[in-house]
Amino acid sequence: MRPRALVTATIALATLVAGTAIPAQAKPAGPPKEPVAVGYGGAVSTVDATATAVGLDVLRRGGNAVDAAVAAAATLGVTEPFSAGIGGGGFFVYYDAKSRRVHTIDGREAGPASMSETTFIDPATGAPYRFDEARISGLSVGVPGTLLTWQDALDRWGTRSLAQVLKPAARVAEDGFPVDETFAGQVAGNQAAFGQFSSTSALYLPGGQPPAVGSTFRNPDLAETYRLIAKRGTDVLYRGEVGRDVVATVQHPPVAADPVGSWPYPIRPAGMTAADLAAYRTRFPEPTRSDYRGLEVYGMATPSSGGTAVGEALNILEQFDLRSMTATQAMHRYLEASALSFADRNRYVGDHTPRNVLRELLSDAYAKERACLIDPSAALPKPVAPGVPDGTYGGCTAAAAADVRDDRTGTTNLTVADRWGNVVEYTLTIEATGGNGMVVPGRGFLLNNELTDFNFAPTQGTATDPNLPGRGKRPRSSMAPTIVLADGRPFLAVGSPGGATIITTVLQMLVNRIDRGMTLPQALAAPRASQRNGASTQAEPAFITGYATGLPPGHTFSSTAEIGAATGIEFLADGRLVAAAEPVRRGGGAAAVVGRWGRD
Ligand code: GLU
Repeated sequence: MRPRALVTATIALATLVAGTAIPAQAKPAGPPKEPVAVGYGGAVSTVDATATAVGLDVLRRGGNAVDAAVAAAATLGVTEPFSAGIGGGGFFVYYDAKSRRVHTIDGREAGPASMSETTFIDPATGAPYRFDEARISGLSVGVPGTLLTWQDALDRWGTRSLAQVLKPAARVAEDGFPVDETFAGQVAGNQAAFGQFSSTSALYLPGGQPPAVGSTFRNPDLAETYRLIAKRGTDVLYRGEVGRDVVATVQHPPVAADPVGSWPYPIRPAGMTAADLAAYRTRFPEPTRSDYRGLEVYGMATPSSGGTAVGEALNILEQFDLRSMTATQAMHRYLEASALSFADRNRYVGDHTPRNVLRELLSDAYAKERACLIDPSAALPKPVAPGVPDGTYGGCTAAAAADVRDDRTGTTNLTVADRWGNVVEYTLTIEATGGNGMVVPGRGFLLNNELTDFNFAPTQGTATDPNLPGRGKRPRSSMAPTIVLADGRPFLAVGSPGGATIITTVLQMLVNRIDRGMTLPQALAAPRASQRNGASTQAEPAFITGYATGLPPGHTFSSTAEIGAATGIEFLADGRLVAAAEPVRRGGGAAAVVGRWGRD
């Protein structure tokens, strides 16, 4: 049944913008940064004002959503280099207005041919490496997929060449952009790791310190790399000289003769080769789909667990009438559904999960079986056990549970819509903030540490772990770029960074918007909590203050300053677009529309 009221509701502009404006920053200067924009003719939302301005300019000049998304992503590679860039990977979800179909690109990094199940086991001790030990090494670097994702998206659905859309980003890299607190803080947080490499410290630690807030940051090497790609195509990375430099960096990390500060672990090289780069291919999987209260929710299939985990949790939540509940009753269901869905994700979802298992995880019958475990009057003891997605349903029984592993955060997300009704939701990453810490010498971009998203050692007891490393295998992701349709037309597009919290952030925004009567900007700004089948729920302080005391017994929380950095667009029934970004988290994002306020 179509949720008419939901889709046709006219949302008063005042409600949309109230309470979300951030004061104009005196310094650093740059394009304006607003978390909410309402209008028509296309919209862009990213975490960064420069990237949003570049995307908007492409739309204004007649480019479509794919052209603008790639131009904005390339700019984020310059202004958000610790979260994204051609050294990394990501997942691109596209709604095509003409065919009314949702397509996806899996541009996830791949394990090189030299990778094996024991890559992250220290041969000297037989124990898994510590996270940072694995991260700041060649072992963590997956074969990058971002550049090929851009090319493939443009080839299939764009109207501009890669050379055209790289131009503005190259200009930003050449001319520079203002350093804000987020940028300087991300360098400071990586100072010890960055300081070990001559290339990285030369770029990001001038004089041994992070660049000053308010100064102009330039990256001429990256400008040159983008121009080289513009001239000669993606082969310069996958078959040419930039690729050779990537391989050299992985095989012989550019360790500084005179490092800035010290690093507690040896910096290990690894065996990625030119053949690994040449063998890399993007994939075009069918999106996941779950129907939620009459809406169609499309997400990212494996190797991301985003689509299945968000979809399963929504299916579980559909068993409850969240609208008629109090906020705490609804949040209790949300937290429990997240835990149940994470138990299944951890047990079953990886790059090679059989299709029938994925189908079952997203089935309504399976969701019913899982939902019946939720006790309205108490939280389930965590971790909860995974279910058995075998197509038979045996009632409310739970088995023993297994271990949970958390991911970290260093990603970016963007949402774009154009005047023709095409929509892009795109999450891209180099994994941890700062990736593996190595700038490719002379090329101006950081390498990813995506392979640390594999489990270093089995986590599922006697059951098979679906996310162990392997040759050519892609590590499980949590990225969850999501497009929601109502009657085959776009209603919402949302996504976020945040490692494994991405799944709960996207889920919570959907619940807030669809079930809890919030506008999209409110749903995005609302305090977040992330229950990932752990003993305690990670939550922002405002969530704990607002909900913790009203929840049924059994929930415990650990406080964390902020979760995620989302972007989104809502498509109103009167044709206007509501572009939304974070008002506060990660320094606030930037939303913009082509034409302001509406046609009338
Ligand atoms: N590597 C993580 C993933 O693919 C993303 C990290 C992040 O969002 O910060 O799920």
